[in-house]
Amino acid sequence: MDQASSALPLTVMARRIAILLSALLLSAPVAAQARRGAPSIVLITIDTLRADRIGCYGYQQVKTPAMDALCRDSIVFDRGIAQVPLTWPSHAAILTGTYPFWNGVQDFTGQPLRPGVDTLAEAMKRHGYATGAVVSSFVLDRSFGMARGFDSYYDAFKASTFLEKDIGLVDRPAGESVDEALKWLKRARRPFFFWLHLYDPHSPYNPPEPFRTEYRGRPYDGEIAYADSQLARLFAWLKRAGLYDSTLIVLTSDHGESLGEHGEREHGFFIYNSTVHVPLVLKPPASSRLKPRREAAAVETIAIPATILGLLGIRDAIEKQFQAPSMLPAGGEEAAPAYSQTMYPFSSFGWSPLHSLENSQYHYIEAPEAELYDLHSDPGEQHNLAAEQPAVAAVLKQRLEERLQQFAPPQRAQDSGASLSPDTAAKLRALGYLAYHAPVSAAMLNSKLADPKAKLAEFNAILQATDSIQLRDFARARALLEKVREQDPQMYLIPFLLAEGAMLRGDAAAAAAEFKKTLELNPEFDQAMTGLARALHALGMDDEARQWLDKALQFNPRNYRAWYQIAWIEMKQRREEAAVGALEKVLSIQPNFGLAHRDLGMLRISQQDYPAAVQHLARAAQLGVEEAPLYNFLGIAYSRTNRLPKAVESYRKALAGNPKLAEARLNLAYAYQQLGRSSEARVEYQTACRLEANFCKYVPGSQR
Ligand SMILES: [Zn+2]
Repeated sequence: MDQASSALPLTVMARRIAILLSALLLSAPVAAQARRGAPSIVLITIDTLRADRIGCYGYQQVKTPAMDALCRDSIVFDRGIAQVPLTWPSHAAILTGTYPFWNGVQDFTGQPLRPGVDTLAEAMKRHGYATGAVVSSFVLDRSFGMARGFDSYYDAFKASTFLEKDIGLVDRPAGESVDEALKWLKRARRPFFFWLHLYDPHSPYNPPEPFRTEYRGRPYDGEIAYADSQLARLFAWLKRAGLYDSTLIVLTSDHGESLGEHGEREHGFFIYNSTVHVPLVLKPPASSRLKPRREAAAVETIAIPATILGLLGIRDAIEKQFQAPSMLPAGGEEAAPAYSQTMYPFSSFGWSPLHSLENSQYHYIEAPEAELYDLHSDPGEQHNLAAEQPAVAAVLKQRLEERLQQFAPPQRAQDSGASLSPDTAAKLRALGYLAYHAPVSAAMLNSKLADPKAKLAEFNAILQATDSIQLRDFARARALLEKVREQDPQMYLIPFLLAEGAMLRGDAAAAAAEFKKTLELNPEFDQAMTGLARALHALGMDDEARQWLDKALQFNPRNYRAWYQIAWIEMKQRREEAAVGALEKVLSIQPNFGLAHRDLGMLRISQQDYPAAVQHLARAAQLGVEEAPLYNFLGIAYSRTNRLPKAVESYRKALAGNPKLAEARLNLAYAYQQLGRSSEARVEYQTACRLEANFCKYVPGSQR
């Protein structure tokens, strides 16, 4: 019998494409001592939230009672300004107190946060705070580096693979995030520093009921109302726990949403106030004796860490890093103008980046055609005054240049050509971002680049083509891209998107041809290299595929998807050790890559290294690769390491996923038998026999 059951498993493993998701890792709390009775801190960032869309900022058409109540207890900054209208760079700026051009996180084509940059979480941890975070979008996955300093960083998302663009899988609604937040807060040591990130107002706008109905025709507002309803649960808990008064609460957003203003649908491309003006609300701890009030000056969101430390009277080495002083200046001096930037037009398309500076009256935007707006008379930024008021423009331009020089990074960050792995890029695309890397060098920054304003139609056509590809409307995508090609024949994204479309409809030969055209226009574009390798692999040309994967890794050593594809080629050619090595590379770069854990666990089973198999298969399951065969093999690995109750549990999970998985029935029967649970064993043996005639010979009492 033993021999028989051990021979079962490997025959049935289906190494199918499953879903990939990232992780939940709860590490142990630290033992450092914080000052007794020191205020706890809650930092809330609600993604994509325009300041002018909540009640306490004057908007009448949405119900935000929780935020409005917080505002009544707070110092409310009427002109909070985000430094960059993109999720990851803006959060990196907020949590480090530094400008994007200094910390290096400027868009999503660059590196993760570099190791030398200190974070607010690390500082609070040094001062004995328990530190926890719940983030609600893949964009803030730990692999980008923001988990640093957090005892617990909840970033488990059911992210789609690059073939499956189910947007619902790459973020998490506020209700679930607040559940996780309360779980952590309820058992957190005090004082704590907790960061909650909610993603709901980000597109696509699909608020749950009753908000969907109440805000029919205005789903963006509905998402805000929904997020507010969940914040209400958080604030109610803080009050019930007696923590609300003593806790410092900061609420802000990473950027706004253009909602069609200036021809921009969402955010990231321009830096008008529709995307950089955000709510900024600071509820001081009761111990500070500060009274609620409103502040009119423009203040930067990177001032948040300095403000928190200042309010709590904490001195820490991170202060040397801060690039904006506290929003609550001791001497009441006037705030410096607020800075914003976007590199997105440059790094994804090769057009000019944008930089700006604004004070309480004027907004100056540095671009090939500079812009100046009087925010008092023209809050919608419709009338460019740069030519009419050259003196005002010149002063702000001068101060902008001084700012860029004052905080220039010690050495120009090397343009390593590194970009995101293709599946990361696909997930970012699913979230509405294009994440590519235009064939431009840092030197081109100083040359004549196209003004994003002049490229708006092209930009929107590329976005629409991307949407069409996701919706499998390939004809429309092609028509849109051909129009772009008429104006901009060198645009490398045209063949790239055509190639992705071809892959999706299963035409690997056409995809390979388009990927090759992409690489002629942008020879260092590693995503096109991995794409080409995928197409070649589908065409059975593994040797050539392997060459492109090696080349992709030369340009971007962090491209774990390339390592994953290499592992598949090695497995196909039955070179197990090489496959194991490639999978270990994947996991050293992206420890949350569930499929790599699954495949490594399977390889360990075939090598009869059952303890290692348990480790990887259990991790894959924890990361959401919840396939019935995986649980069956996990059960076998448990059984081989003498953990029969765990084995039973795993077989039952396999059967919950697929009640007809005969192998799991048989394995479960055998485990029951070993545990002396003979009547349960008999039932499972009989079911296994009914499902698979070959297994009838194992039913006790049958003839072998
Ligand atoms: Zn965002």
